[in-house]
Amino acid sequence: MTQTFIGNASYLNNGNDIIVVLGHGQLARMMYLGATQLGLNIIAVDADKRVCVNAVDKTVLDITIEQAFSACKAITSEFEHLPKDLVKQAQDSGKFKPNAAAIAAGADRIVEKALLEKLSIPNCTHQIINSVNDLKNAYDNLGPKLILKTSRDGYDGYGQWRIFSAQDLTTVCNDLADFDFEFMPLVAEQCILFEREISLLGVTDANGQHKYYPLTENHHADGQLVLSLAPAPDLTPELQQRAEAIHQAIADELDYCGLLAIELFQTGEQLLVNEIAPRVHNSGHWTQQGCAASQFENHIRAVAGLPLGDTSAQHLVAMVNYVGEPKPSTDIMKLANTHLHWYDKSVRPKRKMGHINLVADNNQALQKLIGQVHDLLPESLAKNLAEIKE
Ligand code: ADP
Ligand code: MG
Repeated sequence: MTQTFIGNASYLNNGNDIIVVLGHGQLARMMYLGATQLGLNIIAVDADKRVCVNAVDKTVLDITIEQAFSACKAITSEFEHLPKDLVKQAQDSGKFKPNAAAIAAGADRIVEKALLEKLSIPNCTHQIINSVNDLKNAYDNLGPKLILKTSRDGYDGYGQWRIFSAQDLTTVCNDLADFDFEFMPLVAEQCILFEREISLLGVTDANGQHKYYPLTENHHADGQLVLSLAPAPDLTPELQQRAEAIHQAIADELDYCGLLAIELFQTGEQLLVNEIAPRVHNSGHWTQQGCAASQFENHIRAVAGLPLGDTSAQHLVAMVNYVGEPKPSTDIMKLANTHLHWYDKSVRPKRKMGHINLVADNNQALQKLIGQVHDLLPESLAKNLAEIKE
């Protein structure tokens, strides 16, 4: 079924109000929510089918990508793993924000590592793997614990092998006997025994001015985000400042505009960059309830050339991901200061279905709320939450 865009063909003439988002998942949907309150409209693009869709209900719109690109004020993306020709088409329009180079750095771990090395930003010790022999060599150099990652298309822990013993190495080498390394080089990283994972979300406006949200503490299970706590517990101004300096170096090098997320491993005072995401990020969903302007609203403001909104935290927030399970019982909605965000997708294992933002003004109240939500979660999610040590 196709839908004529807002039922009015002349609508496209008002292109100053339109932002095109490459991708049509929950991030595009939440960008729509951030944009609509500013009186801006979003056209999402299904990058596989190459059609324009409504960002909320995903109905196909009766306009071509070319029409949308030519009518809109700006083009942005919700995802870095996009077809190269679509990124080029967006870049060639002169309206793409951030830009093709930033997307490439987020999409390809080899490009990303080269960027970090060029800027002398500490990151995980690693080797590029172009053969099974390279992997054996990397195990000798970086082992005994490695994380092997595909250079492209990895997210939520997909496209990774954990090699924690000589036995694991043999198994993975056998699995990779017929692997096409030329098509998909791999990256072997030393497995880091960090104290915690944190992320910094910063937003750069059209004039290159940056604003930063407070650092967020992130907890994963199986490579996928389970819980974010913001601002990160025990956050010091020095830590925030050091993360901001890393962020600024990357954003400036990429001539960035919009929201850029940086995932970091913290050990004591040391920060290592794990990866960068040239887009809004799961670890920033807390900003919907925690800040005057959410990451979605600020990303849209940036790419639309508008002034940025305040990024300071007004509350403590815990963000709980709702993964691979159907919509929770309405009991969760009865809890005060608990905000359910549901993406309206069909259920699949490991699929992000929604998230819950829990809001409090002190840590004790926040922990109590996490406990109450925990007790209402399906077992698979409750288990992951319970395993997180305070
Ligand atoms: P994705 O693109 O899937 O998010 P990441 O590189 O961020 O891939 O890996 C997912 C998670 O796996 C990280 O958040 C972290 O918990 C763990 N991880 C990744 N790389 C390393 C590493 N070198 N050492 C230890 N843990 C790692
Ligand atoms: Mg990651």
